[in-house]
Amino acid sequence: MCPIYKKCGGCTYLKLTYQEQLKMKQKQVESLLGKFGKILPIIGMENPFYYRNKVHAVFDRDARGNIICGTYEANSHKVVPVEKCLLEDQKSQEIIRTIRDLCKSFKIKTYDEDTGYGLLRHVMVRRGFCSNEIMVILVLGSPILPSKNNFVKALKKIHPEITSIVINVNDKKTSMVLGEREIPLYGPTFIKDTLCNVRFRISAASFYQVNPVQTEVLYQTAIQFAGLRGKEKVLDAYCGIGTISLAVARHAAEVTGVELNPEAVRDARRNAKENGIKNVSFKQGDAGQFLYRIAEQGVKYDTVFMDPPRSGSSKEFIDSIAVCSPEKVVYVSCNPETMARDLDWLLKKGYQVSRIQPVDMFPWTAHTEVVCELIKVNTKRAGKP
Ligand code: SAH
Repeated sequence: MCPIYKKCGGCTYLKLTYQEQLKMKQKQVESLLGKFGKILPIIGMENPFYYRNKVHAVFDRDARGNIICGTYEANSHKVVPVEKCLLEDQKSQEIIRTIRDLCKSFKIKTYDEDTGYGLLRHVMVRRGFCSNEIMVILVLGSPILPSKNNFVKALKKIHPEITSIVINVNDKKTSMVLGEREIPLYGPTFIKDTLCNVRFRISAASFYQVNPVQTEVLYQTAIQFAGLRGKEKVLDAYCGIGTISLAVARHAAEVTGVELNPEAVRDARRNAKENGIKNVSFKQGDAGQFLYRIAEQGVKYDTVFMDPPRSGSSKEFIDSIAVCSPEKVVYVSCNPETMARDLDWLLKKGYQVSRIQPVDMFPWTAHTEVVCELIKVNTKRAGKP
């Protein structure tokens, strides 16, 4: 199905049918988490192709000097040309190929990682699947794009659907794609998109889930597991740009989001303001330290959502949960292995797993996302199983 699948290494499950992939993921979750409680059947995608809303291509030259764009070969810095990817949004892919073809007529040189000569390093395209807004980010080794106005005109003529074009300057010898400086060429420096009826502003560097269709499914599952009645005091730990906090705000009395990354916290606050959501607040810091302090002050939460990174949560966080003693914990995880370790700790702290829902966020890859509902033992307020 893909001529470069071995070299790229992204789609480890490409040889399996989609049904087989779902079965594999179900089995994996059952073997890691089955001992804790009931595993519901994994929710797959109706159409598991072209789901990625963020598309990235590296630019380089082949041995004959032709401009190529694609991905790094697995574990190397050699660029494999990509003509068609099964996961990436198709419109964004088209735009990237157009830019490759325009480079020739505009005599734009690609950047050479070894010598530091040349200009174009990467192109990133972000598309809002609901809003249909499209942002093109040209990552350049220096801030000057020759004939930039004509370049923008030519690109817009072929793709009038583009709503933003920005230059991102990355002049460092680094494997990071984006640099710090941004120069707007056309339109705003962000796109907007809607998730769970909340509008989000997404800039070039913002973290935003890459599969928006399944993200809705994931959050709806988490909200359903929480069974909120509008009166609860809620904590959303590891909240990123506030996606879960803002989606649950209308179902709760008060929501506090806590997040380590200061930029994400800034985005979260602005998203709350722009949506007119007043019963949320965001704190910057380590989730474990925050909860420890709050627990010491005697603050209680009714419901805790937690969505930690792949490395999972921390002992401090889980020990402090026991002190705050929420009746319900909804744990969202992108790594069932670290989730298993954390569930062990939570069980020792007087919680019990009611149900576990795997969601396929990354078809064709080996990754699985899981939502787990935990209730405090002896509590009467369990969700509807
Ligand atoms: N719930 C969000 C983000 C989940 S990703 C969403 O669905 O969009 C995990 C988040 O945890 C990231 O934003 C990361 O910056 C944050 N994070 C990582 N370590 C943390 C820590 N120790 N304390 C608080 N947040 C942390």
